Amino acid sequence: MVPSPPEIHVLGAGPTGALTALALGHRGQRVVLFDPLTASELQARSRAYAITHSSRRLLTNLGLWHDLRDALVPFRDLDLRDVATNARVLFGLEDLTSANRHHDGIGWILDHRPLMKLLLARLMANGNVAMHLAEPSPNPSPDALIVAADGPRSPTREAWGIRHWGIRYRQGCLTAKVALRGLPHDRACELFRPEGPLAVLPLGQGTFQVVWSAPWQRCQQRSTLQRGAFLDQLAAVLPEGIEPDFLLDQPRAFPQQWLLARRFHHGRGLLIGEAGHRCHPVGGQGLNLCWRDVDGLLRAVERGGSAATIARRYGMSRWLDVLQVGVATDLLVRVFSNREPLLLPLRRLALLLLKQFSGLRQLSLQAMSDGPMQLWRTLPN
Ligand SMILES: Cc1cc2nc3c(=O)[nH]c(=O)nc-3n(C[C@H](O)[C@H](O)[C@H](O)COP(=O)(O)OP(=O)(O)OC[C@H]3O[C@@H](n4cnc5c(N)ncnc54)[C@H](O)[C@@H]3O)c2cc1C
Repeated sequence: MVPSPPEIHVLGAGPTGALTALALGHRGQRVVLFDPLTASELQARSRAYAITHSSRRLLTNLGLWHDLRDALVPFRDLDLRDVATNARVLFGLEDLTSANRHHDGIGWILDHRPLMKLLLARLMANGNVAMHLAEPSPNPSPDALIVAADGPRSPTREAWGIRHWGIRYRQGCLTAKVALRGLPHDRACELFRPEGPLAVLPLGQGTFQVVWSAPWQRCQQRSTLQRGAFLDQLAAVLPEGIEPDFLLDQPRAFPQQWLLARRFHHGRGLLIGEAGHRCHPVGGQGLNLCWRDVDGLLRAVERGGSAATIARRYGMSRWLDVLQVGVATDLLVRVFSNREPLLLPLRRLALLLLKQFSGLRQLSLQAMSDGPMQLWRTLPN
């Protein structure tokens, strides 16, 4: 068998790049990790991620799941509502496939800080990984594999001349951490509202992360409101009985886009995570999809070969999963963010079928938890 490349350069130490470097270092590969930010800047983002079972499997295999246990807040119910039709479906643990049912969560909410703190600590302790944070990194050797994990604006993607296809949504999204009353501590909500989806994700001890999509200018305007006025506007859109009490951070507005690189590999280089794709945050798929890239890269490296072979193999293996998730999230946003009279009966019917048939709930939850590529495969326990 042709040997694996002697060295792998990972550009970007966000959640994807850091996990990639750690996973490769873990399997004995020599890795150089570079990011222009310092370790404390890398941890500073105020964001929480919805973690699915595909990510649980990867984190478990890398020996990280157990150490994140205290930071992972499980949700055991998922409350899905379409405000315009008044339809509602409640997903429970019993709707998970048997391989996922005994892990005490449909999914988990994980704050950015403890995640990055653990990843950076493990990276520093790993003798195979040389970290260059906020300092120049050595030039890669001519046969090194280059992994670009430098985020949605990826300067490396631009430098390699990989064009991308993208849709900028008129919707933006606003994130805020709030203390709420009236919602079980282990329930996540996804409300489809005509202005855009609103997710309420449990962070433990009565606090929740709100991911509130709406027309971009409205998001920007809401992010500048006084605390009281912001909470009043939030109270007006939450279902009856759920009351926001305090705001725990400064709400931030983000533009939204669906971005897809035309290819994920270029010579001996490859794009991973948001450097290669980005989708709407509905359903909390983003980071999980990025981490399935990490899994795909590990498989490509395991099979050996030159840097160019690995890059090509990885690039070919990832496009179908990425495309399916992008199309599904785009369709969800388009179909449910309106009051189109022709669509309302279809939406009502879709949610009624989901409510009536547990098989449909299982299928849709499995697609969200493990990715559409795993739908017809047997999952490891
Ligand atoms: C509002 C919002 C809510 C979200 N909610 C969720 C959710 O609930 N669940 C979920 O799974 N996902 C969610 N996401 C998506 C999630 O944030 C992203 O998937 C994740 O941050 C992608 O990580 P990444 O490491 O690929 O990119 P990034 O986090 O963007 O990291 C890129 C890194 O590259 C570095 N870099 C930049 N330029 C260079 C360079 N030239 N060389 C080297 N390094 C460079 C940057 O400093 C940065 O550290 C959400 C996104 C948004 C915007």
